[in-house]
Amino acid sequence: MKSSADIRQAFLNFFSERGHQVVSSSSLVPGNDPTLLFTNAGMVQFKDVFTGREKRPYTRATSSQRCVRAGGKHNDLENVGYTARHHTFFEMLGNFSFGDYFKHDAIRYAWEFLTEVVKLPPERLWVTVYEEDDEAADIWLKDVGVDPNRFSRIGAKDNFWSMGDTGPCGPCTEIFYDHGSEVAGGPPGTPEEDGDRYIEIWNLVFMQYDRSADGSMTPLPAPSVDTGMGLERLAAVVQGVHSNYEIDLFRRLIGAAAELAGRSGEDNSSLRVIADHIRACAFLIADGVYPSNEGRGYVLRRIVRRAIRHGYKLGIDKVFFYRLVSPLVDEMGAAYPELTAAREQVERVLQQEEERFRETLEQGMKLLDETLANLTEKRIPGETIFRLYDTYGFPVDLTNDVARERGYELDEVGFEAHMEAQRERARSASQFKADYSAAAAFEGRSEFTGYDSCEGGGKVLALYRE
Ligand code: ATP
Ligand code: MG
Ligand code: MG
Ligand code: MG
Repeated sequence: MKSSADIRQAFLNFFSERGHQVVSSSSLVPGNDPTLLFTNAGMVQFKDVFTGREKRPYTRATSSQRCVRAGGKHNDLENVGYTARHHTFFEMLGNFSFGDYFKHDAIRYAWEFLTEVVKLPPERLWVTVYEEDDEAADIWLKDVGVDPNRFSRIGAKDNFWSMGDTGPCGPCTEIFYDHGSEVAGGPPGTPEEDGDRYIEIWNLVFMQYDRSADGSMTPLPAPSVDTGMGLERLAAVVQGVHSNYEIDLFRRLIGAAAELAGRSGEDNSSLRVIADHIRACAFLIADGVYPSNEGRGYVLRRIVRRAIRHGYKLGIDKVFFYRLVSPLVDEMGAAYPELTAAREQVERVLQQEEERFRETLEQGMKLLDETLANLTEKRIPGETIFRLYDTYGFPVDLTNDVARERGYELDEVGFEAHMEAQRERARSASQFKADYSAAAAFEGRSEFTGYDSCEGGGKVLALYRE
């Protein structure tokens, strides 16, 4: 059986043999786009090459890009632990053509790789194209010969891509794997598609047009290709398991987490969340993000604290999260030397963050448990969410995670009212020139130093709403 590492290598080799330059993964902090929270696709490091602003000595490239989709436009944090296919951190395998080959070769390569290199049975694959893209439909149906019963045309929501409101854009074609009738879910484009039976594995984007501010689209002189396939999803298929969390790499990470929890051999949703989160946290820190109360640092803090809360739920009563860095380096350090190099730093940062949060976690959980025990409706009051946030350092989405597990919802409006009142207090207090820096937020452990968190607080809501 092919390991995740073998599959990654097989992909890069396949495209390298077909004239693609192998390019290393770029940082999770995008160097070329301050509006983007994290690198969330393989094409991010090539944006300027696609628009023609940057020239490279090659017109074909391939990479395995580390990606984070937590916060920002693509936010999969709420899916983790609930679907078989979403991670906060994942690796995106991609091949790229910068005005070189177009639809025909891109589709051919993808099919050849899936059916001949990793040998997926064609009758398990399902293909979608953009509803107006007859050219791509012809290539699939006539050239490749895919079964018309396993082929569909899809609207713009899923199958039309654009870089922004203006600029390069174009139709996509996607390849799904059918995990079989024992799994619930319907084919793409049907109302049942959200199930886990048909899992999207590869997206091929054809950058064909340049959209201008008035919405008109002119054909690009040299159309390009951008593809992305989740390594973990492909590994699940190749290794014959249904969930990404059952692949080799995750089995070992879950095993390591289970051992720390004194539950060797077990597998449950909290262990899976922890295994997912250690990857995002370790790679973010290795790329220079530190837990803080705003922006990228706050997304990291939220992920770390969520993981720690799941550890608490499993009954782990010691600082534990940083101890997963070592098994992670064993799994991924060879492919990502920057992780190996940053290892001690990553451990230190995680250890400190957990030590700090552990001072309030237990009390906060007690407050939450007591509140829930006395509620008459399945709705957590805004005041509780606010106290947890302000006094105990519980990001709102952490409280929401607990609520969801237990079938409660949050009183968001009530919470916002408390936040607004706090901002108001901070504004009037600031006339006395006190220190209300955002950095001080959260660290406040007594009720009143919490006033400082006005700035970070606004951001919490913004993140929470996405
Ligand atoms: P989905 O519909 O399953 O959320 P997507 O359409 O958002 O996926 P794309 O933006 O097309 O995904 O990204 C290309 C590929 O990256 C996907 O086909 C999938 O294999 C992988 N991928 C996307 N999001 C995730 C994630 N959160 N975790 C793991 N792999 C992912
Ligand atoms: Mg998605
Ligand atoms: Mg999709
Ligand atoms: Mg997609």
